[in-house]
Amino acid sequence: MRTHESAEISSSMLDGPDWPFRILNGAPALLAYLDSEQRFLYANETHRTWLGVDPLKLIGRCLIDVIGIKNYRRASPALEQAYAGQMASYEGELFNHRERRYAHGNFQPDFDADGHVRGVFTTLVDITERRAMELQLHDSEQRFFQAFQHAAIGMALIHPDGHFLRVNTAACQMLGYREDELLALRLADITHPDDLAEDQALRTQLLRGERESYQLEKRNFHRDGHVVHVQLSVSLVRDEQGQPRYFVSQAQDICERKTFEEALHHERELAEVTLRSIGDAVITTDLQLRITSLNPIAEAMTGWASSEARDRPIGEIFQLYDALSGQLVANPLRAAIEHDTIVDLASKTLLRHRHGFDTPVEDSSAPIHDHAGNVIGGVLVFHDVSETRTLALRMIHLTQHDTLTGLPNRSQLHGQIEQALTTAARRQQRGALLYIDIDHFKQINEIHGHASGDRVLRAFAAQILSCLPGDELLSRYGGDEFVVVLPHLESVGEAASLCQRLIAACEQTSVADLPELGLRVTIGISVFPDNANEPDALLQQAETAMCAAKAQGHHSYRLFTASMNERTFARHQIETTLRLALSRNELSLYYQPKVDARSGRIAGAEALLRWHADGREMHAPNQFIPIAEDSGLILPIGAWVLQQACRQARQWQQDGHHVPISVNVSPLQFQHVDFYAWLDGVLDTCGLDPGLLELELTERMVMSGGSATTALLQQIKRRGVRLSLDDFGTGYCSLSYLRHFPIDTLKIDRAFVSDLTTDPDTATITSAIIAMARSLNKEVVAEGVETREQGEFLRLAGCSQLQGFLYGMPMTVAAFEQRLLATG
Ligand code: C2E
Ligand code: MG
Ligand code: MG
Repeated sequence: MRTHESAEISSSMLDGPDWPFRILNGAPALLAYLDSEQRFLYANETHRTWLGVDPLKLIGRCLIDVIGIKNYRRASPALEQAYAGQMASYEGELFNHRERRYAHGNFQPDFDADGHVRGVFTTLVDITERRAMELQLHDSEQRFFQAFQHAAIGMALIHPDGHFLRVNTAACQMLGYREDELLALRLADITHPDDLAEDQALRTQLLRGERESYQLEKRNFHRDGHVVHVQLSVSLVRDEQGQPRYFVSQAQDICERKTFEEALHHERELAEVTLRSIGDAVITTDLQLRITSLNPIAEAMTGWASSEARDRPIGEIFQLYDALSGQLVANPLRAAIEHDTIVDLASKTLLRHRHGFDTPVEDSSAPIHDHAGNVIGGVLVFHDVSETRTLALRMIHLTQHDTLTGLPNRSQLHGQIEQALTTAARRQQRGALLYIDIDHFKQINEIHGHASGDRVLRAFAAQILSCLPGDELLSRYGGDEFVVVLPHLESVGEAASLCQRLIAACEQTSVADLPELGLRVTIGISVFPDNANEPDALLQQAETAMCAAKAQGHHSYRLFTASMNERTFARHQIETTLRLALSRNELSLYYQPKVDARSGRIAGAEALLRWHADGREMHAPNQFIPIAEDSGLILPIGAWVLQQACRQARQWQQDGHHVPISVNVSPLQFQHVDFYAWLDGVLDTCGLDPGLLELELTERMVMSGGSATTALLQQIKRRGVRLSLDDFGTGYCSLSYLRHFPIDTLKIDRAFVSDLTTDPDTATITSAIIAMARSLNKEVVAEGVETREQGEFLRLAGCSQLQGFLYGMPMTVAAFEQRLLATG
């Protein structure tokens, strides 16, 4: 409907025979026709409005006369092209009588029937405004380009894919390339491989819009291969749609600064090394004669540690006496500083040690100058001239080294850590301490004797040293404890992989005439300055981490975390209160029923330890029992549990209830040499039928003990006591192996039971375990049964007894007795 209407309107507008002329005359462009002689045959009305000429008066005139020779020259190449039969265009000024305009011209040849050009259609469009804008843009681009090109700093525009789009002269000079050579490269081609990842990561952050710009010190490669240190500043330019267009990168050459820094650092390092290794004692002070440093020999000769002495007046640390008169001698350093000259000491002076004894010394003092030549402090260099000096040096070595292994000892370790800390701080690096403890070293001493133990320690130290090819320092910290100082760490992962290597290497430690040792170690790591920047704290943290690793099973390593400290503290608290719990009657036994899978009647009870004080539970068994085990408290507590449980079973027996009782036994109890004697004693005193007692052991206890364990298990069995494997399936016991142990019952761990009805794999595995256990004539009990479905599944799979919240929580004696009465 609409199209129809508009078609009507337009056709009425174009009514009449002259409409094509109306269009030609009204068009906002100069339209004309030139004949073969370049004479106007037609010019539209726009010539009048734009140029102020009557179009009719143009007819018959030659183009060159109308537009003038200058404009004609500009247009003529395009015009000639059109007369040669090809469309052509040009841009140029428009001859306007009032102002200069700019036009885009189009020339279209007109062919006759024979294909000869008989004339040309010309169209000129005014593009003055567009042209002005283009000029402006060009101008500002030009200005930017000039600024970019001639900036004193290296600049580059880089495509997000890493290609150089533009580079300036300074960048080319800095890297030694010509512009076209550099433009053919990618950023990665000139970047030092070690700096690539960081630069890349920062660029990615820019692209993702996570940051506006970034600064980075990085290394580029010069064309001739040498490294150019640059300070980089990079931002990202996006288009109107927000899409990344290119990075603007500015790079300042900082090679000079780097060289200076390195030289300075080198100089300092050299001075430090010289001072530490020099055979003379050296003390430095500030202008006020307050101590700034002591080297190790000065420490030994004065009795003051450098850290202690720092900032104290020199008179306190360095006291000289005349050997003949015993009079105090004026400190030579004072004169050296005052007169800005070197002062040698008169011979026969004695240096008094902190602990009162005297050493004959020779000394020389000199002022220290800054760059400008000002005195900023003083240095005292002295040495022991007595014959005992060599002996003293030997003593120093002895006090600082472990006689067994020759490694630096605990006292020297302290200084080494301190030095590593200072160096790391100055270089803004990280480092780490590894606290290495040999697992069960005591056994080696016990089995092979102490002399062999010493040889093992020496071999062990050599083994560790062979894994430390760099500037790492090894020292012996205590009996079987060693500490490695890693003064420089690229990443924490580096420490971790060293630990792995150490653990593997230590296992290889061997000593002639001794059987294969298979030494195992546990390592704790603390990192500086992240964890601490003080030797004692770092050592303590590394030790804590080592203990944490031990608590999780030996033969591994752990990094220190702050929560370990809290945990250690909390453990300590629990241990302290647990010590008193037994005597305060805070411990009690709860009993959880075990029911017969078929009849549902009570078939036994597991005794579970509880800790209550003031009517509330102090800690859950899973919390305090591991602590009791670590601290050895489990021995008296376990003894009490066994006795208490046996008495209870005996009591119920006397009351007419046949309730076999299960008691959990911890590894420490089981390993105790007197375990059997003590079990036997309890059974005797209680008068309990041994068949009513079952001991719950774990896989680990049964598996790890060797033939002694098997013998003990058999002894217990012969006494008539039943044995059960608790938490079955969580350890590494293979079912076929179980054949060798006199175990009556397997207790399937709660973890299997809880997943039974949700995870088909668990269901399959559990059924298989039950079936195989039964084929070995073992009874199977499931623990942690919480739902009917679980119970039903386990019953059908062949479990004889079930235990879990579904059949009853662990409860007090009174509650359990009520339950017995109720179910008969
Ligand atoms: P366990 O020997 O495996 O004991 C079973 C644990 O499972 C008990 O935790 C019990 O309360 C819990 N439990 C029973 N049924 C269910 C259930 O249906 N669902 C869930 N979620 N849990 C259930 P409890 O009493 O906290 O004891 C924890 C562990 O502490 C025991 O594990 C045992 O290893 C140890 N323990 C307890 N009493 C003693 C003891 O007198 N001496 C020694 N050495 N260890 C003990
Ligand atoms: Mg148990
Ligand atoms: Mg269990």
